[in-house]
Amino acid sequence: MSALQSVCIYCGSSATVDPYYRTLAYRVGTLLGTQKIRLIYGGGRSGLMGEVADGALHAGGTVIGIIPHHMQAREIEHRTLSELHVVDTMHTRKMMMAEKADGFVVLPGGLGTLEEVFEILTWKQLGLHNKPIVIFNAQEFWNPLLGLIRHIIAAQFAPANNEQLYEVIESLEQLMPALGHENTARFSPEDKWF
Ligand code: AMP
Repeated sequence: MSALQSVCIYCGSSATVDPYYRTLAYRVGTLLGTQKIRLIYGGGRSGLMGEVADGALHAGGTVIGIIPHHMQAREIEHRTLSELHVVDTMHTRKMMMAEKADGFVVLPGGLGTLEEVFEILTWKQLGLHNKPIVIFNAQEFWNPLLGLIRHIIAAQFAPANNEQLYEVIESLEQLMPALGHENTARFSPEDKWF
């Protein structure tokens, strides 16, 4: 795999979560900034989204935000990003985020984060991309999600190799190695229907 130049972060926009998660997001941003890896994200400044952007910017990194115009006010757009793209729809936003990134990191988040995660997982399952997806299971936050995926596999609504669509990490030290791992599993539309 060629060197990773940009990473898309999916994370929560809620401003009222445990400060632990906010600090974690800031540290993830700092790490990307110091590694000179471009941060691609949803363009807001609330919750973990704002923290990850601030962490990267303060570390001298490049941050590209992509926000739909109808959410500009609601998500309180970040005003000091390297680039802010205002697009028409959520679909365009997610497509641009996915296209601009060489890999994806999932931090704790809410329903919007879940929606983004499932989309990028299913696109990989269908062979539309083969980029690394890292689920940051901080404080075991994503255990219910990981359990749900195992449940789906056990009931044969998904093939067992779906657990290879992503890598799960628990600490910041594991982030860069996980993003750099060669994806040995290959997914194609044929794998989806067994
Ligand atoms: P949340 O995890 O709900 O705080 O949302 C995190 C990010 O997901 C924010 O940038 C939201 O704009 C985005 N988002 C929220 N709802 C949706 C949705 N239905 N589809 C896609 N993205 C969403």
